[in-house]
Amino acid sequence: MKTTMKIIIYLLFIIPFFALSQQNSFSENLFTDYETYKESSITQRMFKHSDIQPLIEKLKLEKGFRVVTLGKSIQGRTISMISIGNGATNVLLWSQMHGDESTATMAIFDIFNYLKKNKEILNNVTLHFIPMLNPDGAEVFKRRNAIGIDINRDALRLQSPESRILKMARDSVQADFGFNLHDQSKYYNAEQTNKPATISYLAPAYNYEKDINETRGNAMKIIVEMNDIIQKYTPGQVGRYSDEFEPRAFGDNIQKWGTSTILVESGGYKDDPEKQFIRKLNFVSLLGAIHSISTNNYKNTSINKYLEIPKNDRKLFDIKLTNVTFQYLEKKYTVDLGINMAQMNSKDQNNSNPIGYLREIGDLSTYYGYENIDAKNMTFKIGKTYPKILSSLDEIENLNFETLLQDGYTTVAMDHIPDELIFTKYPVKFIAVNDIMITRDNTIPKSPLQLGSQPTFLLTKNEELYYAIINGVVYEFGK
Ligand SMILES: [Zn+2]
Repeated sequence: MKTTMKIIIYLLFIIPFFALSQQNSFSENLFTDYETYKESSITQRMFKHSDIQPLIEKLKLEKGFRVVTLGKSIQGRTISMISIGNGATNVLLWSQMHGDESTATMAIFDIFNYLKKNKEILNNVTLHFIPMLNPDGAEVFKRRNAIGIDINRDALRLQSPESRILKMARDSVQADFGFNLHDQSKYYNAEQTNKPATISYLAPAYNYEKDINETRGNAMKIIVEMNDIIQKYTPGQVGRYSDEFEPRAFGDNIQKWGTSTILVESGGYKDDPEKQFIRKLNFVSLLGAIHSISTNNYKNTSINKYLEIPKNDRKLFDIKLTNVTFQYLEKKYTVDLGINMAQMNSKDQNNSNPIGYLREIGDLSTYYGYENIDAKNMTFKIGKTYPKILSSLDEIENLNFETLLQDGYTTVAMDHIPDELIFTKYPVKFIAVNDIMITRDNTIPKSPLQLGSQPTFLLTKNEELYYAIINGVVYEFGK
C-alpha cells in the first residue's frame, strides 16, 4: 500500500475519534465549571416573568446580544427573543411553552452567562432564544395559557398570540435546528428499569408514516450526541418518547416545516425537587448540542443509536411498598402499594408540608419506586385513635408522638381542628370529633386501604414498630 493511502486510511479512523474526544472534553469542562455560569438570581423552579425581565433588559447592554420583542401574551406580558452570533446555521430554542415547565428557562439564563464570556462556540451558528413562551401560565405556574389553551395543540389554528409568536419566530429566522424545551412528570422511567427518565428526547415525526428524512435524521443525530453527554452524569436515566404523529403539536409541525426539531423533556431526579441538578444537565447538554452543530460533529453519528435509547415509560411512584398483608372482613390479602407525594400549602402560603396519596394497589411487580419498602414478614396494623379529645395547640405540643405511635395510636381527635393543623408536620392524623366514624351494625366497613386516600397505618415486626405511614408520609423506626 502506498504511504499516502496509509495516511488517508489512518486519518479516516482518527478524525472521528478526535472529534469525539473534543466533544467529550467540551461538555466535561462545562460540567466542572457550571457554578461560574449559573444565574444566581434564579434559585427555584417557580419564578415569573417579572423575575426574568430585568435579566433580559441587562442583556440589551451586553456585547453581541440582540434583544427583540416578538409580541405580547394574552395578558400583555412581553415575549422576547435574544439572538447571539452571526454564523450561517440558525438555531432556535424556546422554553416554557407550558407555564409550569421551567427547568430549561433556568438553564437558558445560565447559557447567556456562558455566552457573555465564550464566543468560540458561535463560529458557525446564530442562536435565537425565546425563554418563557407562556408567561401568563408561568405567572400561576400552570401548563396552559390565559384562555386555557394548550399552546402545544395550537400549531395549526394559531389562536393564541404565543403560538403565532413561535411560528413567526421560526419562519423569520428560517431555523435549521429547533429545541423545544419542556418538563415531564417525574414518574416517567426508562422502560423496564427503575431509573427515572431524568431527561427524555424525541425527534418528532412529521407525518403519520413516521418517515425519516434528512431534517428529522439530523434531529436524531443531535439527540444521540446529547444522550452521550447525559449518560455520563446520570447513567441509564434517559428515555425516548413515542413518535406518534400529533398533527396539532408544534414539534411535529416545526419538523414538517424543515427545521430539525429536538424535544427535550426534563423529568425527575432523586432528591432534586427544585430541579437544580436537571437544570445543570440542560446547561451542559444544550451547549454540547450547539457545539456539535457548530463543529458538524453530529454528522459522524448514527441514527441507529437514537433508536437504541430506551423508551419512556410511566411506572414510577415516590414510594413503593411491597408485600403488604392486611386483613379485611376476616380474610387476608397481600398487595403492593404505590404512593405519590404532594405538597400542601397553608392558607398564608408560608408553610408547606408533604402529604402522600395512595395511587395504586395490587400487583406492582412491573412498577418501581424512588423509595422502596418491603413489608414482607411485617404486620399491618390500623392505628388506634387516642382516647383523649384535645382542644388546643398547647395540648398537642405536649404529646410525645414517638410514644404515641409505639403504643399504636395514629390518630388524634380534636374538638375542632385549628387552621395551623390542617397541613401538619406532626406524625399523627388529626380528625375532628364529628368525623369519628361510627360503624353501624348493618353497614359493611370499608377496606382499610382506599385508592386516592392518604393512607394511615403501622407496620410492625415482633410487636416492634418499623414504619408508621401517616397521611401517606413514611416515618421509619426499625433498626
Ligand atoms: Zn410541556
